[in-house]
Amino acid sequence: MNDAPDDRVLVAVRTDQTECHVAGTRHGYTCFKCGCGVSLAPAGQNFLIANPAVQVCCMECAILSKPDSVELAPGAMDELIAEAVRRAKRHQQN
Ligand SMILES: [Zn+2]
Repeated sequence: MNDAPDDRVLVAVRTDQTECHVAGTRHGYTCFKCGCGVSLAPAGQNFLIANPAVQVCCMECAILSKPDSVELAPGAMDELIAEAVRRAKRHQQN
């Protein structure tokens, strides 16, 4: 097992998949595999600052290439859930 930091990948959402963007998402990142534009939620941004050697790649490339080392940034799932709740509440008001 190789657990070197730069063997991991940080999974990001493609910039065109706006339905997956949470509040505070930043654009302008690039998938190191396919070169598509990706966006990182705040948890991902923080993870990248703490682990600058980690490569960013899109969900599709991550799943195809390295299923064992794919990881969501700590807190990313909480952000997604919070965003889903926000959308659900907005949906109820409409
Ligand atoms: Zn990609």
